[in-house]
Amino acid sequence: MADPHESLHGTDRVDLHLHTLASDGFWTPDTLTTYLAEHDFAVAAVCDHDSQKSVVEAIDLGRQRGVTVIPGVEVTCKWEERQLHILVYGIRPDRDDAAARPFLALMRDIDDQLNINAIDARERFIASGRDLPSLEEIRNGRVLWPFHVLSAVIQDKHAPNLKEAAEMLVSLGGTFTADLPVEAVVAAAHEAGGVCVVAHPGRDDAVGVVTDADLDRLLPIAPMDGLEAHYRSHTAEQTALYREIAERRGLLISCGSDSHAPGKPVDPKPWRAAWCAALLERLGLIVDVDTNGPVWTSSMEPLPAQPPAPAPGPDESQTAEPQQDVHHERTEEGAVSA
Ligand SMILES: [Zn+2]
Ligand SMILES: [Zn+2]
Repeated sequence: MADPHESLHGTDRVDLHLHTLASDGFWTPDTLTTYLAEHDFAVAAVCDHDSQKSVVEAIDLGRQRGVTVIPGVEVTCKWEERQLHILVYGIRPDRDDAAARPFLALMRDIDDQLNINAIDARERFIASGRDLPSLEEIRNGRVLWPFHVLSAVIQDKHAPNLKEAAEMLVSLGGTFTADLPVEAVVAAAHEAGGVCVVAHPGRDDAVGVVTDADLDRLLPIAPMDGLEAHYRSHTAEQTALYREIAERRGLLISCGSDSHAPGKPVDPKPWRAAWCAALLERLGLIVDVDTNGPVWTSSMEPLPAQPPAPAPGPDESQTAEPQQDVHHERTEEGAVSA
């Protein structure tokens, strides 16, 4: 068993935005850390929506498998009548020190509110004549969340997708979100020593693009630490733009696939540690960045996931370099996922 990577090479594989069944993903801590170890990832962050229920198990399994798992969460926040997804790194959910208490209390509040909203949503669908016989199987022993109810609405053929299921719930007077005020989330995260990063700033969907001008208004009330400049659906131009904005504003840069399950919408992506070196160092990992040449150019991205290496034969001492892959996924998300 390898030890977790305390110091990293610039080309080590890193994915700082992954979901599990603690929110709307289907990775388990076991399947996720197995995948990451088999594909030679050095560092990963488990960032479920509004939940850290998989974090401790993933850290422990990652340690056994040689993958450093950073505690994370993707908090659904409210700002200026819109939603923002904020990645908060570095706060373990099993802390009980005074500095962590306000943030962990916010996490309990959003879990409780989502549960209340889900129970209300289930009642509204059933009262409208839409039975949900698949709900208990989908819930599978978890605290009931709106995502489970909307998934049952689809499974039981009342709506074709999450977006329409969510719209149906709103038309019935219910709600599927419990957004927290962004300034409260960032203040509590900072008190706990956490690092706050704007998730997928270039993703043009229900959450929406976060522009340079938006940051002029956001940062004074909610001082973010970074931007997720490397994201699975960002074009090379968007990556370059958000890297430039981050560098100009003195913000950290993160790299995330937002994988929710094998191939859904993508597998974890092997971003390079050098691309998010300052963030990794804030999280206690030392990155040995090669200073000869640029840290990132568009021709480097995105790297393909490396298949599991075959067991080396007696004469094999080298592994092949990964192929460059210039394909960019353009995945559209529903209003309540990712
Ligand atoms: Zn998101
Ligand atoms: Zn996400």
